[in-house]
Amino acid sequence: MSLETKLKQYARLLIRTGCALKPGQEVLLTAPVEAAGFARMVVEEAWNAGAGAVTVEWVDDTVTRLKYLHAPLSAFEKVPDWLALQRNGTVERGGIILSLEGDDPDGMAGVDPSRFTAWSRASHRDCKAFYDGMDLGRNVWCIAGAATPRWAKKVFPHLSEGEAVEKLWEAILSTARADGPDPDKVWREHSAAFQRRVALLDARQFDALRYTAANGTDFTVGLNKDHIWAGGGAQTVDGVWFFPNMPTEEIFTTPHRDWAEGIVHSTLPLNYNGGLIEDFWVKFEEGRAVDCGAAKGLDLLKSILAVDEAAAHLGEVALVPHASPIAQSGILFYSTLYDENAACHLALGKGFPECVKGGLEMDEAALREHHINLSATHVDFMIGTADLNITGILPDGTETPVFCDGNWTGEFE
Ligand code: ZN
Repeated sequence: MSLETKLKQYARLLIRTGCALKPGQEVLLTAPVEAAGFARMVVEEAWNAGAGAVTVEWVDDTVTRLKYLHAPLSAFEKVPDWLALQRNGTVERGGIILSLEGDDPDGMAGVDPSRFTAWSRASHRDCKAFYDGMDLGRNVWCIAGAATPRWAKKVFPHLSEGEAVEKLWEAILSTARADGPDPDKVWREHSAAFQRRVALLDARQFDALRYTAANGTDFTVGLNKDHIWAGGGAQTVDGVWFFPNMPTEEIFTTPHRDWAEGIVHSTLPLNYNGGLIEDFWVKFEEGRAVDCGAAKGLDLLKSILAVDEAAAHLGEVALVPHASPIAQSGILFYSTLYDENAACHLALGKGFPECVKGGLEMDEAALREHHINLSATHVDFMIGTADLNITGILPDGTETPVFCDGNWTGEFE
């Protein structure tokens, strides 16, 4: 199959499976100008599937960077009326939000971080309907990758630009399980495997998970009473199945805020605020990170833990098999969409209310009472290895193997 044919197939997969587009529905597509060729294929597939309207919001990394460097702070404190109207209007009409990500990983280096904070605050205020539509399950949304030259050169610095872009496209297609003859079928099976494992884990209600690996990881994390596992596809309140992230390999929940003991070692560099933290470890006591070390970037690691009091506690536990295509690719993508699906990970900071029964209806006090961590930050870091063992521990002390040598085992296989 030529790259062109595979890209058409990928565009179709995003529209039909990722977004589950229904005839007459609107699509708001965000796309990098440098991936315009692929964005046009997505637009064509949206019309082929019967879209009622297709609007493209083009993103230009250079133009965005110039704004972040030179615009007055006031430009980040309010979303332009037309943009808020476009975003809010699309979700209010039941539209789909599809984002193609191809950001230059270094595109925002040196930008004053208070501008991101100001824009994020303004966006959530002025585009409230837009974010609520996605957060509260009213609208379908999907984020997927699209290769761009600067991103490709970051991932494959030794190749020419043309070769790097082609190689990145191949990596995007294979990790999104979109390079075979029938990707929609592959995704139906992928989705069924997720649903089966999520149901098994939910039914088990482990009290805690214990992690061990030869790199020194020896760690136990507690799970909340009535915790809920999530992963794979998502469902809107109207019952439409879609995939918020393509690729997706993780099954995750929110751990007990005050129950984590032992040491975890990182197994992939962590890209944070434009800097890299490498070969690091974190030691936990009673849920709190009490010590840490790093071969590189220790100050950055400490800055994450210091964002607020809750940043030194965990908000996410995610299980990703070592056999997954992203892990097997061995590529560091410098993009959370890919890298967080490469290995088992934990996240420091904010937990997910939807990962405990009734959590979406709880106020902050109730969430705290249910040991959900509340923080302004959420930073994933990878701890999966080819020899990682994970054991589920039941309240009576019974142990059940969940992962053996980096992959699902026993009933979870
Ligand atoms: Zn995750």
